[in-house]
Amino acid sequence: MNSGFDGLNAQLITKYSTSGPRYTSYPTAPLWKDNFTEDDYAAGLNEHLSTRTSKALSLYVHFPFCENKCAYCACNSDTIDSRLKIAAFISSLQEEVQLLIKQTNVLDGSYIEQLHIGGGSPSYMNEAEFEKFLAAISPLIEKSKLSEFSIEIDPRGLNNEKLQFYAACGIDRISFGVQDLDPRVQEAIGRVQPAELLVKALSAKNKSYFKSINFDLIYGLPFQTGESFKATLDAVKELRPNRIAIYNYAHMPKLKPNQMTIREEDLPSAEEKTKILVTTINSLLGGGYNYIGMDHFALPEDDLSLALENGTLYRNFMGYTTAKARNLIGLGPTSISGFGRYYAQNVRDTALYAQLVGDKILPTSRGLRLSDDDLLRRDIINSLICNFYLNFAAIEKAHGICFKDYFGPELNSLVCFIDDGLLTVNEKSMKVSFQGRVFIRNICMVFDAYLKKDEQRQFSKTI
Ligand code: SF4
Repeated sequence: MNSGFDGLNAQLITKYSTSGPRYTSYPTAPLWKDNFTEDDYAAGLNEHLSTRTSKALSLYVHFPFCENKCAYCACNSDTIDSRLKIAAFISSLQEEVQLLIKQTNVLDGSYIEQLHIGGGSPSYMNEAEFEKFLAAISPLIEKSKLSEFSIEIDPRGLNNEKLQFYAACGIDRISFGVQDLDPRVQEAIGRVQPAELLVKALSAKNKSYFKSINFDLIYGLPFQTGESFKATLDAVKELRPNRIAIYNYAHMPKLKPNQMTIREEDLPSAEEKTKILVTTINSLLGGGYNYIGMDHFALPEDDLSLALENGTLYRNFMGYTTAKARNLIGLGPTSISGFGRYYAQNVRDTALYAQLVGDKILPTSRGLRLSDDDLLRRDIINSLICNFYLNFAAIEKAHGICFKDYFGPELNSLVCFIDDGLLTVNEKSMKVSFQGRVFIRNICMVFDAYLKKDEQRQFSKTI
């Protein structure tokens, strides 16, 4: 699958490094409307459930607390002074589930096929709390229907018993926030977790409990160099997680005050970051991982690799995923739902979330009903970002347009990618080259109708 990739061109990285969306949705979240209400959400969900061709849904549940706040973190998470806050949150979650069931009339455990618990740090819950958490969402879950059940884990405070407990709960996929294994980097980001923690957690016995293990890494952190990150990658490859995601650190201390402890002068330069990215891609390809696209890698036998091969890869708020259940419902503060032609997001603040569900109001804060043009462009972006291929006739048939007429200016804007060997375009289709996968965000941006209108929004770097 990796043939045709003969080393990443650092000059191209410099050329195409710009800010842009990660396309976990289209239109992207900053464009959703504040006047999209809880009634719009319930009506949209009912509309979707009544017209769906497939019953399958994914469920994401956001646990909003962590033991400590990491300096680089951009997630919606708080530290707490009492575990009573966890109990209170679980009660609110239970109320949200009941409200959702009541408002939709039909939603029950027969819909959810994929369940993901994220945060925050859900592994901060002890076993008794986690059982109550599962009981709160149980009206939406039939274990026999679940094809995937995953959780994000902080390796600190983890032990064999807890991993066995997760397996006994039915969890079959675990994701570790690893970020970087260099002690100096860990110190600077306020997250000290020696590599031995992961070595112990990933004993052969523990690994056997789970179908897939994911590591999240971050590049662009203080004191990282191409050399230092290579050492992290070598240690990671020894542990052989099934999937690896590598994210670009976005330093925005004005928006994320916890990042203020990271000193700008300690961050790697743009050239060093390029070196780290080149090192990462070449190292993981050399280590037998398939390049899924953008920021994801997987072993050849992993479901993500198989989905890429079969053309069933999908991208949503959790990054690349298999397309078993494309439509997603989110529970908990800040969680996002995406189904049919709707997106919606819950309120961010945990206290407000609790107050709303306590008052029997769905905690929707914003959302969007997609226009026909949004649906068309979303299909194009999804096809490019997941299949690295676009069949014009399929788009024309699905949306009743003539591709060349509708997208004349966009086709002209693709010339630079063609000239740089990142894309080929013929009469019937376009195909992203293997190297082009690194620049897929840039290619997708050509089809984003909102970027030209609104260039002030803050996005992460494309590469
Ligand atoms: S554990 Fe994860 S969610 Fe919590 S502060 Fe650290 S990075 Fe953020």
